Amino acid sequence: MSAPAATVHATDGSIQLVLATDTEIKQAIGRFCETQLIGREGESSVRRMETPRRTLIRRVSRKKEERLAKIRRTNLSTLMDQTLTFTEGSTAPHEGHIPNSIDQEDSIWGHSFSSSNFETSNYNLFEESPLLNILPSMKAQLRQWSIKHNITHSALKDLLKVISQTFPDANLPKDPRTLLRTPRSISNKVSYIAGGEFFHFGILGHLTRIVSYGLKDFKLPNILLKKNLPNLLTLKIGIDGVPISRSSKKQFWPILGSLDQGKRSEVFLISLFYGDTKPKVVEEFLNPFVSEMSDIEANGILVNEKQYNVRIRVLVADTPARAYLKCVKGHSGYYSCEKCQRKGKRTTALIFPIRAAAQNRTDSDFNSLLYVGSSKSKSHQMSLSPLCALDVGMVTQVPLDYMHLCCLGIMKRMLMLWYEGRVPHRIGGRNVEIVSERLRSFSKFIPSEFSRKCRGLDDLHFWKATEFRTFILYVGPLALKNVLSKEKYEHFMLFHTAMYIFLSSAADSSEWVDFGEQLLHKFVNDAAMLYYEDILVYNMHSLLHLHMDVRNFGPLDKISAFQFENYMQVIKRRLRTNHSHLAQTVNRFKEEEGYVSHTDPFVATGVGKISSKHGDNCFLTSSGKICVIQSVNNDTNSCSVRYFNQIHPLKNYPCNSSVFGINIVNELSRVSDSSLKSLVRKCILLPHKKRFLCIPLCSSSMSDVN
Ligand SMILES: [Zn+2]
Repeated sequence: MSAPAATVHATDGSIQLVLATDTEIKQAIGRFCETQLIGREGESSVRRMETPRRTLIRRVSRKKEERLAKIRRTNLSTLMDQTLTFTEGSTAPHEGHIPNSIDQEDSIWGHSFSSSNFETSNYNLFEESPLLNILPSMKAQLRQWSIKHNITHSALKDLLKVISQTFPDANLPKDPRTLLRTPRSISNKVSYIAGGEFFHFGILGHLTRIVSYGLKDFKLPNILLKKNLPNLLTLKIGIDGVPISRSSKKQFWPILGSLDQGKRSEVFLISLFYGDTKPKVVEEFLNPFVSEMSDIEANGILVNEKQYNVRIRVLVADTPARAYLKCVKGHSGYYSCEKCQRKGKRTTALIFPIRAAAQNRTDSDFNSLLYVGSSKSKSHQMSLSPLCALDVGMVTQVPLDYMHLCCLGIMKRMLMLWYEGRVPHRIGGRNVEIVSERLRSFSKFIPSEFSRKCRGLDDLHFWKATEFRTFILYVGPLALKNVLSKEKYEHFMLFHTAMYIFLSSAADSSEWVDFGEQLLHKFVNDAAMLYYEDILVYNMHSLLHLHMDVRNFGPLDKISAFQFENYMQVIKRRLRTNHSHLAQTVNRFKEEEGYVSHTDPFVATGVGKISSKHGDNCFLTSSGKICVIQSVNNDTNSCSVRYFNQIHPLKNYPCNSSVFGINIVNELSRVSDSSLKSLVRKCILLPHKKRFLCIPLCSSSMSDVN
């Protein structure tokens, strides 16, 4: 029990304070801190002992109080509720950080916003906050800002100097490495393996951190459900090489991970190699990962006193990387097909002529090294991959990545053929201009969530994977109309439809997957007749197996490399100086651990942005109608819309396009009101003569953000 350090008198509506002496207040605060350290028995004292601190702060003028209240109402109402709730049981602030007078407080902060923060919390903004996500400290905010904007150490050092000179009490470190918690001895932990330098970040730390943020539901594929493991967490692993620049052969080879059930679907770095080529000995590159993952598979992980099993769901890589990791023949090998035992034929390139289906490969035969042939040329496997030590199917759980296979593979090859290929397949300058003009005109109709709009064929060499994806799924059918011959156009539509099925929720239906499989079989068979036999290379043959991955995992976006692609660029951008490339990159990622969330570009909630502007104004409604937004009222969660009265399926489609919601639409109704909740899926609305082609975004997660 302590004596009050100050008394409060309320007169004529204002608050007047009769303060105890500074010494008495200091003693009271000291006792307050002691009671906090002693334990919960001091809780009643805590409430009383808050009085002197609060009364000190209420000496600010009534006008200032009103301003603070306004700020609280507008910006911090929720935040403060949380903070005040926390204050009851929180650790007391250090005595030295509580201002002895309002003048000192003002000298530190000098503006009302900071005072308002101080008033409502026991927590000092200059110190590390236990509530980092609720009310970040100045240090934490500076750290986050410098990581977000990739600020160099020398720039940050100068900024710290300026802040410290202006606010001497800010108590900021002089050295940016202290602020950013830069590891001091990374160079000693970098190992040297054949071909370059290597660093293993580990898996366990990432998993523990992400699981502690909270988990979300994730529909497990049958392959993993069969294992019947309780509390199962699953990982998507991505491995690929990324050159650091066009003017150097130096490259990074990261092993990336993503926890499917993580609320923050972030990508994290497990291992990183840096050298002139890929790691020369695959065992050296993979062993630290395989060793730690084996241990996690055997023992599980314990987070917040709950035991979890962990398995790899899928291992994603492009064709050359898969061949390297699986220790099998590359795409030019006779037995290079990863899914079946078909032998290729050597012409100008290695091709897979159309024949009856060959026997499929199996995980158990792969792990038993049964695909090592009697002679070198008959072999598929060259040695046993280190990954075989893990509980992962080396045939079934290493899918054919559609980003590389279909977007950067098949679609790019077909477009290059039409744009600048051999006669008679090239479409000619006039048609190139028609297609380019159509693509450019579609640009403003692309949803704002898409990071890249449409470009003309003259930029084809620079198109990114996501632009080829947009072409296959959305703009290709109109861009190529009446440009290709009828046979070639219908041939392209087989590919479009199959990909639309494999990337949409139709991929969860076995009947639609059967249909998609038939379409791709016809597409591959007809390709040799419509074009030339040499088009039947590894990629074209692999299309025949794409349905296997869809059956195992559902829509292809769940197993694609798109999620890891952006992160690859992030790794490159972390390089600042032209020495110790690996060590400095490791330091940057250590600094930002837990701060930056690299999300999956295809996982988003809701229907995306809703507005009356092109690209964001067309939606499928819960009643199956197609509407165009006229205006949005967010206050009432409503919008005014016009519905299309005339809806027809698209001609030259391999099936009734209306079953996917793909329609030619026309004739708008009068304006009527609707609820925003009735909008269930965003659509792309492309002008087609005097009508429109409406294509719902096919992503299984509703919002097709790329
Ligand atoms: Zn095959």
